[in-house]
Amino acid sequence: MADISRLQRMRRYFDSGATREYAFRKQQLLALKQVLVKYEQEIYAALYTDLKKVPEECWFTENGLLVQELNHTLRHLKQWMQPERAGTNMLNLPSSSYLQPSPLGMVLIIGPWNFPLQLLLIPVVGAIAAGNTVVIKPSEYAPATAAIVEKMIREALPEELALVVQGEGATVVPDLMKAQRFDHVFYTGSIPVGKAVYQLAAADLVPVTLELGGKDPCVVEADANLAVAARRIVLGKYSNAGQMCVSPDYLLVHASVKERLLQLMKEYIVKFYGEKPEETYGYNKIINEKNFDRLVRYLSQGKIVAGGRYNRSGLFIAPTILEEVDPDAPVMQEEIFGPVLPLFTFTEMEEALALIRRNPNPLSFYVFTGSKKKEASWIKQLQFGTGCVNNTAMQFTNHHLPFGGVGQSGMGAYHGRHTFDVFTHYKAIMKTPAWFDPALKYPPLKGKLKLLKFFIK
Ligand code: NAD
Repeated sequence: MADISRLQRMRRYFDSGATREYAFRKQQLLALKQVLVKYEQEIYAALYTDLKKVPEECWFTENGLLVQELNHTLRHLKQWMQPERAGTNMLNLPSSSYLQPSPLGMVLIIGPWNFPLQLLLIPVVGAIAAGNTVVIKPSEYAPATAAIVEKMIREALPEELALVVQGEGATVVPDLMKAQRFDHVFYTGSIPVGKAVYQLAAADLVPVTLELGGKDPCVVEADANLAVAARRIVLGKYSNAGQMCVSPDYLLVHASVKERLLQLMKEYIVKFYGEKPEETYGYNKIINEKNFDRLVRYLSQGKIVAGGRYNRSGLFIAPTILEEVDPDAPVMQEEIFGPVLPLFTFTEMEEALALIRRNPNPLSFYVFTGSKKKEASWIKQLQFGTGCVNNTAMQFTNHHLPFGGVGQSGMGAYHGRHTFDVFTHYKAIMKTPAWFDPALKYPPLKGKLKLLKFFIK
């Protein structure tokens, strides 16, 4: 059951104005940074327990990204908090106008298990920077990380400012959202649960950010640098054993270069993860048996041309490439979210587009090509959230770019300034001096049409 009195205290804390000042927000962000340093080794141990992540990978994709977001926010927060001048139309002159950034209130942040630290805490950085109080729900499928997150938040932040709620999402989240009207819900996770969260939020007109998933296509044109493409696709696909919302889900390769690309990818798989990835430093495990079994079923839905080995006791599935996959097979109907990569060939762009359009609005899209014309054509033709040209997944690590989906892959975007904006309402204010008050707008209006047409056009 939700701790209602604690939630009420957090609400009162927000209403008291305690979270509004720059000095307060900065102090909380610094405290958060401090615990990330203090518990660095415990963070590594937790992420190893949950997903077999090694420290180098953690810095690359978890606590390093979080520290980057914190530093960027600390550097710019004062400026982000300033009112922003806006224009004023002729009718309202000599008024002046500005946007006043204001916190939303009390917000709920729900995280997934695949990057259980940064996907949960990057939004928390923005929420606190923007002056909100925050309830944090980690994923129950990464319990070691959920525990260290709770320990750090308790130690770093006042209890009226931040609360970590553990437990099964399917009961905890509805309980929380029924006990308390949040001013915003930020959810990262699957599409079906995203729909459930959206429905809960709709009941009380609570605005949401939904960071969802989907099937991310990766296209390799004949004119691509194939060695670079192979390296970057292998890295993007098999990092975190493919359990990444921005992993290439399936490959579309121009038929003329398929054999060469496949050969190179096989070489890079061995180079990066060895002949026995289950024993290789830095090759991750599948999160749990349920996902392992789902992924193993995909292995029979095509011809295995690389990898294919697995081991249930170690929750290990080798980096795998499938060919001759039926587009109607489950592996092409569902988000794969694991180290299995179906490969298709195309000769005309239309063929590839037809396959991609079976799963519209991917979160991410990747194209490898040396041609600016082809690049523009791919980027313009498809509807997707974020993407890369001649790269995969790395757009997520650039905090200058907003990260988020479109349509089925979600709504809203964050990272850097955009995270602050998610949790900020910009009050639009017009200030009108008292010394000038023309009669034009006051009744009686009779006979003023010509003048009104002059000022309003
Ligand atoms: P999930 O939807 O199972 O769980 C996410 C969170 O929702 C967890 O904290 C869980 O406790 C909670 N939850 C579970 N059931 C709930 C319910 N009925 N009501 C409310 N909350 C509930 O997602 P997951 O399996 O942890 O994550 C994998 C999915 O997330 C993939 O589809 C992936 O593409 C997507 N994802 C998206 C992004 C992104 O940034 N867009 C990032 C990572 C993962």
